[in-house]
Amino acid sequence: ATASPEQRAAELEARIRQAPERFRVMTGDRPTGPLHLGHYFGTLHNRVRLQELGVDVFVIIADYQVLTDRDVADRLGEYMEGMLLDYLAVGIDPARSTVFNHSAVPALNQLMLPFLSLVSVAELNRNPTVKDEIVHSRQAAVSGLMFTYPVHQAADILFCKGNLVPVGQDQLPHLEVTRTVARRFNERYGAVFPEPDALLSEAPLLLGTDGTKMSKSRGNSIALGADADETARLIKGAKTDAERYITYDPENRPGVSSLVLLAALCLDRDPHAVAEEIGGGGAAALKRIVTEAVNSRMAPIRARRAEYARDMGYVRSVLRAGNERANEIAAATLDEVRGVMGA
Ligand code: ATP
Ligand code: MG
Repeated sequence: ATASPEQRAAELEARIRQAPERFRVMTGDRPTGPLHLGHYFGTLHNRVRLQELGVDVFVIIADYQVLTDRDVADRLGEYMEGMLLDYLAVGIDPARSTVFNHSAVPALNQLMLPFLSLVSVAELNRNPTVKDEIVHSRQAAVSGLMFTYPVHQAADILFCKGNLVPVGQDQLPHLEVTRTVARRFNERYGAVFPEPDALLSEAPLLLGTDGTKMSKSRGNSIALGADADETARLIKGAKTDAERYITYDPENRPGVSSLVLLAALCLDRDPHAVAEEIGGGGAAALKRIVTEAVNSRMAPIRARRAEYARDMGYVRSVLRAGNERANEIAAATLDEVRGVMGA
């Protein structure tokens, strides 16, 4: 019998706990805006948890991938520094984790060339996440970079032989591309790469204030670094529905349920219990409770963020050190790839 996704997740978790040194986490984010609660509950929380278990963690600030769905990388420096602050504030520890960015690690990007040769155009065309992102894209025409960025992501993950990738649900089709690339490369040239596993959190798809996936670039997100008033304002404007009684029913009531879930995540509680407690209090009570829950859960993170922001020299040095380590690893992997390919 094949195992259910839950069984497979539990089995993976057990393997990680048993031998954390066998795992290398590789994941990251695009510097297209401030990191938000979807990132926190979808992946950041898991990264820190794995780091604490003793797993080697790599985090990429995916600056080249900014250009997949827009013509220019607006405010790149500002967003990158903001992300570094977010990482440090949530507990990514530069002594144990490596933070780096695409454009500082040329050898990583070079892997994209052989990797592109291993996938077909039809396969790239079928990717549901790419299709969804094209719908929300700011460009009139779809660029080649948009279609091929899942292969670029394969290079991100495989350059350091990452075998564990904590991501949100939208990334699952991309992780399949990475697994395919690794498998085909190994079959064709010899065993070089692992076939990495995705690791979903308990909130793999947090919705934004408009009821669609919370995204940096959709104007529907609550940033980690937002202040308490801004948080209150955003939650006040969140889409709910006409039904007064609050329930947790993600399928039929996405707006209300995503707010309930957000409160539950912040309070470490069960969403059904949270909904039941609010009940006839309606959307006003729901929004008040969510706002309080988010603000109190984020308060220590926001305080640490402000603390680090006073020493941007240190913050930038974290990225420099991470890039140095990433470059060493990328050079070694590229050598190995050239060796087996005879190129
Ligand atoms: P953009 O709108 O620019 O694409 P984004 O908000 O989708 O930004 P990404 O940098 O593309 O953020 O994604 C970084 C990581 O965060 C990925 O692993 C992704 O799956 C995860 N993630 C992003 N949004 C959510 C969400 N709403 N819920 C859960 N995980 C998320
Ligand atoms: Mg995205």
